Amino acid sequence: MTFKLEVVHFAKKCYNSGLTVGTSGNVSVRDGNLMYITPSALPYDEMTEEDVLVVDLTSGDIVEGARNPSSETPMHSNIYYGNPNVEAIVHTHSKFATMFACAHMPIPPVHYTIADIGREVPVAPYARYGSEKLAKYAVETLEKNQTNGVLLANHGVVAVGSTLDDAYRRAETIEEVAELAYGSKLLSEFKLLTDEELDEALEGFKTYVSN
Ligand code: 13P
Ligand code: ZN
Repeated sequence: MTFKLEVVHFAKKCYNSGLTVGTSGNVSVRDGNLMYITPSALPYDEMTEEDVLVVDLTSGDIVEGARNPSSETPMHSNIYYGNPNVEAIVHTHSKFATMFACAHMPIPPVHYTIADIGREVPVAPYARYGSEKLAKYAVETLEKNQTNGVLLANHGVVAVGSTLDDAYRRAETIEEVAELAYGSKLLSEFKLLTDEELDEALEGFKTYVSN
């Protein structure tokens, strides 16, 4: 699959799975110094590979594409700039995770699958969507917590990975754990997993593959 097709495939997957609604969210992948990113405000069912923008990460110039790039282009490019290991980013406003973001509450480790993200999913401070400030807060929160995902206060979710498969899976996991945390809090107090239990789960994921 080409990078452009991959971006469209995962953007539509976010939409079809309900992780995004309307034209919210955006998806990108990096190839060296180039970033392939979804256009701004274009309905997902109309999106084709010709709509994907190619941005030079050094100059910030759009090198291919006629549409407006995602308003979160500064956030995507800043995350790639500071993290050579990140090759793909998925941003959503998925509901349960965004409830935690609106409450400025990290998603706690109530379910072992969160180990793929970190000890918890931290919250980056609020800044207007699309702003350089939001980009800075997202990068700082990812770095400080060494996680593969962050919540953006009063906004949504960012998940990163070395492939779009990874970043998408993490966006799904963040939403699932947020829903489980929300529901379990209704039933009782949180029963948190320990760091040791999370490490053990992470170790197990290394061999959790189909043959
Ligand atoms: P774009 O359509 O510009 O990508 O914006 C959607 C969004 O989620 C902004 O945070
Ligand atoms: Zn958003």
